[in-house]
Amino acid sequence: IFPGSVDAAGQRATLGVLGGGQLGRMFVQAAQRLGYFTAVLEPDAQSPAGQVSHHHIQTGYDDPAGLAQLAYLCQAITTEFENVPAQVLQTLALTRPVAPGAAVVGIAQNRIEEKAHFAACAATSGVGCAPYAVLETPAQLQAVQAERPELLPGILKTARLGYDGKGQVRAENAAELAAAWAELGGVACVLEKKLPLAAECSVLVARGWDGQVVSFAPQRNVHVAGILAVTHAYAGALPPALAERAREAAIAIARQLGYVGVLCVEFFVVDDGSEHGSLVVNEMAPRPHNSGHYTLDACDASQFDLQVHALAGLPLPQPRQHSPAIMLNLLGDVWLDAAGRLREPDWSAVLRLPGTHLHLYGKLQARPGRKMGHLTITGPDIASVKAGARRAAELLG
Ligand code: ADP
Ligand code: MG
Repeated sequence: IFPGSVDAAGQRATLGVLGGGQLGRMFVQAAQRLGYFTAVLEPDAQSPAGQVSHHHIQTGYDDPAGLAQLAYLCQAITTEFENVPAQVLQTLALTRPVAPGAAVVGIAQNRIEEKAHFAACAATSGVGCAPYAVLETPAQLQAVQAERPELLPGILKTARLGYDGKGQVRAENAAELAAAWAELGGVACVLEKKLPLAAECSVLVARGWDGQVVSFAPQRNVHVAGILAVTHAYAGALPPALAERAREAAIAIARQLGYVGVLCVEFFVVDDGSEHGSLVVNEMAPRPHNSGHYTLDACDASQFDLQVHALAGLPLPQPRQHSPAIMLNLLGDVWLDAAGRLREPDWSAVLRLPGTHLHLYGKLQARPGRKMGHLTITGPDIASVKAGARRAAELLG
């Protein structure tokens, strides 16, 4: 699907996205830069992506009329939102190319299936996941309590709908595990052994319909309270051999899924006493990812450009990072003054710093923990990027 092309019915090449959040917004912006028209399906009238798209279909994600209109307007469709019902993707795929597909999104939506896939990939990817047990029934709870003491202290995670540390409860011992499961409502969960983390990192891979694969170098991520806070993307942010293993594992995981589009695979670097630690695969996101936002400013093709290329069936450029970068997430907390009142931050001081790139998502209401935007700092060398990031973080409080 070439940008600017017009089909037999007079329709201009249009790419569609399910979901109107910031990932959808940056996808739409990348598509428009290439000359595509865009359509966003999103119930919220004021969404980040809906605001900037040529078409905004304002219905629920499973509304048949809305989905029919999306399929009518678009030559290909993606999702920015991994909890879109897999059935919706399946229905759209009857008439339009949809990437990523329903099957892979279904796997990524469910930690039980996701871990089973990682385990199945371990032979080729060379990287396994944390020791874990599936917990769906009271009998399984008892069995884990009696037979898997090595999983405690552990983290109980709901199989579905967890994000930014939500849907997780820590348990030190068997009694706390029962309480944690009750707290999560007794829904299907996985219990994961709590690992000593030396670091966390993620890899962005893009795979085309023809199987072509390109990838970005792994970046190191710092989470605060379960939410991504900082991404370090420069040579030496991770030990090179470990970064290369993570990249190869992510590519193996994407290939084995027959994935099409941008996939983010998150890893733990476990402190096992060795010099650089060992890799464990944590989870994957079937879409561009917060940890890849630095690619907008530091690379000659961003993760969103690659998502557009992959969806439209264009050749995938192997991206080249031209600047070291640090990304700072801007959560709603930055909008609160010392007295806890909402106000617009003073951006001028931040923007005066060399190499700062401000991205605000157009969200009308700031709330603590809400992702409002991000700031990427680039520069001629790593030392100046680190200094800039330190200064920006101070200014933002
Ligand atoms: P989410 O879907 O919320 O991102 P994750 O499974 O990635 O869920 O967990 C969020 C964060 O919690 C991780 O980035 C990591 O910092 C911490 N965490 C999760 N699982 C473990 C574990 N098994 N051991 C140690 N820390 C963990
Ligand atoms: Mg995570």
